[in-house]
Formats: sequence, structure tokens, C-alpha cells
Amino acid sequence: MSAARSSGVVDPTSTPVAVGEPLLEVSNLAAGYGDIRAVWDLSLTVEAGRITVLLGRNGAGKTTTLLALAGMLPIQGGSVQLLGRDIAGMSAQQRVRAGIALVPEGKRVFHRLSVYDNLMVGGVTVHSRTARKKGIEEALDRFPLLAQYRNKRAGEMSGGQQQILAIAQALVVRPKVLLLDEPSAGLAPKIMDDVIAVVQALAAAGTGVLLVEQVIDIAVPIADRVTLIEGGREIYSTATPGEDTAAVVTQHMSHS
Ligand code: ATP
Repeated sequence: MSAARSSGVVDPTSTPVAVGEPLLEVSNLAAGYGDIRAVWDLSLTVEAGRITVLLGRNGAGKTTTLLALAGMLPIQGGSVQLLGRDIAGMSAQQRVRAGIALVPEGKRVFHRLSVYDNLMVGGVTVHSRTARKKGIEEALDRFPLLAQYRNKRAGEMSGGQQQILAIAQALVVRPKVLLLDEPSAGLAPKIMDDVIAVVQALAAAGTGVLLVEQVIDIAVPIADRVTLIEGGREIYSTATPGEDTAAVVTQHMSHS
């Protein structure tokens, strides 16, 4: 369960949203690459201050789902609503402005740029210079290590620090919903824990998180909702994950 358990009001951007209120509602999503369909009929919800975990093996369709939600792949079917507003027809940039940000797989930071300049890149869709600066300062306040290294080249930081920077980049736009594609990938277990703690802290601050993972033991314990996909289709989902959920998911994955 996430740390964001208390009721109350949170304010991930300018619009106050109550903890537990649905932010992103995905119904019967279909997505793919040209004529190739990779995701069929997927439905899930991301709520304010909560973590929805999307699990699946290699090639299950997790990244495709995130790319479609972020507007980087066309949505071939179904509906996607952000705070009740249909966003399926919006461009990626419009979706960022509407409140969705994606942290792609693979710690994609610019190695030759400083931490601060990477954050500037993260805020490139924010037209107002004041708002961009505010987003960057908030990101630096949230991660003191990045503030300490603000002038350091990203390529000189460790893999875990680069992953935190990649998350911070996405936060510059002050998203309501953060889409995270396997943030633990390629990290040592101890560093994975640090990254997962960051994800939990974001949810505790009111952000709705859609976390894609392959490592069940990392993701399920912090999940408020769990969906498992295989071959692009949902095979298991729960809005009340409990102690047995990891075992249930492991069993589904080994039998599919
Ligand atoms: P992984 O954990 O390995 O990243 P995933 O669950 O994120 O896996 P996707 O990357 O979404 O899976 O892939 C889903 C399906 O779409 C796979 O069959 C994959 O081969 C296919 N696919 C991915 N990218 C493309 C592409 N650019 N063109 C065509 N098919 C693709």
C-alpha cells in the first residue's frame, strides 16, 4: 500500500484534487504500431495520491500502453480521460499541458548537459519562463542531491542518480499523473529501493502514479491497484491488493 493513505486535499498543479479521486481513466484501450496491434481492451484507473502498477513480462505491452497514454503512439480504440476530459485526440505536448508526464524506460537524461540544463529540457513544453523556473526549483527542492549537483554533468552521476534526474525532469511540468516505465531497470537492489521510495513520496504528495514494472516484489507492495497484462491483454486486476497479491500475480505470470 502506498504511503498516501490519509484523506484530504492535494494540489499537484493548480487544481485541487482529493486523494483517491480518479485522475486518469482508461477504458478498453487498443494501441500498437501501424497495423500491428500490441494492446487490446485494457482498462485501468489512476487516482490522485495513489499508485497503479502495470505488470507483465517482456513484450506484454506495458511500454506500448504508456506511449499511447502519453500521446506518442496513436490510440486505436477505447477512451482515455483525464479528470473527466477526453484526451485521446490530444497531441503529446497537449497531454503534458493537461497534466500527464512520462518517464521513459532507460534513464534518458542528456549525459553532456548539467543537472540543471536537463531540468530545463524537462520544462521545454512550459511556455511561461516563471512557471518553468518554479517547476525546476520545486524539483530541486524535492531532491536535495540534484540541488547539490545542479552544475554537474548528468553523465558523471550514478545510474540511480540519473534515474532520479529522469523523474525530476518529468516533474518540472508539475504533472497530475506520472507514467513511469520500469524505473528500477538496470539498478542495483539498494538503489532500486531509493527510486521506489521516490515514487512513493510522489504519490504521498498527491500525484497519481502509473508504474510499469517487471519486478513483482518491488512493485506490488507499494501498489494501490495492480493490473497484469500478457500478450497485450489484461489477465488479472485488483483494486485491493493484499498480502497474497504478489503470489497470485507470480502464479498468473508463470501459467500464461
Ligand atoms: P518490455 O518489458 O520488454 O519493454 P513491454 O511489456 O513494455 O516489454 P512492449 O514494448 O509494449 O512490451 O511491446 C509489446 C509488443 O509490441 C511486443 O510484441 C513488441 O514486439 C511489439 N513492439 C514494440 N515496439 C514495436 C515497434 N516499434 N514496432 C512494432 N512492434 C513493436
